[in-house]
Amino acid sequence: MARNLNPKCKQCRREGQKLFIKGERCYSPKCAMVKKNFPPGAHGAKGYPRLSGYGIQLREKQKAKKIYRILEAQFKNYFKKAFKNKENTEEILLQLLEMRLDNVIYRSGLAKSRNLARQLVSHGHFLVNSKKVNIPSYQLKIGDVISLKDKSKNLKIFSKLKEQIKKIEPLGWISINLEKLEIKITDKPKLSDAKKEFDPKLIIEFYSK
Ligand code: SF4
Repeated sequence: MARNLNPKCKQCRREGQKLFIKGERCYSPKCAMVKKNFPPGAHGAKGYPRLSGYGIQLREKQKAKKIYRILEAQFKNYFKKAFKNKENTEEILLQLLEMRLDNVIYRSGLAKSRNLARQLVSHGHFLVNSKKVNIPSYQLKIGDVISLKDKSKNLKIFSKLKEQIKKIEPLGWISINLEKLEIKITDKPKLSDAKKEFDPKLIIEFYSK
């Protein structure tokens, strides 16, 4: 599976924003965005350049790709699907990204980063509606129930799952059963309850040119 192999912290510094790629470290004083909040490279210390309208749209698109850990071809496909709905393109784009299985695993606190979520899904640790799904981009729908495979529950990596989940800020469209370690998709994410990590409008403008 193709991945963005650039150093993770440099990806955040390029975008001038924490993208939370490394999990726990991102919340600590060791985060590179705390220590070196300027772009990487020889001229980085001069700070972030002023961008044209096109430059702002391009950076927003690049940032969203890095947040969700996906590459250009797949990202553009999401845009094409969303664009078919001319009235609600922004919200559909957001939903396609947010309702990926790896993203929901991360958002629910079952993994500390999206990279880890993707790895855990690929290794077959999760069930969707009681069936094993090992495709990180799998699109969830309302009513789907995600659970941890019985065999995986005793693994060290999942030993502090309940504490981990309790730290997560709950999302309006996901319900978590802490006892059963089950996640249910109860709604679709709306633009109004998005985490405001990126602006889908700028991305639509970029691809619509
Ligand atoms: Fe980004 Fe996390 Fe590195 Fe901070 S620690 S720069 S948020 S990947």
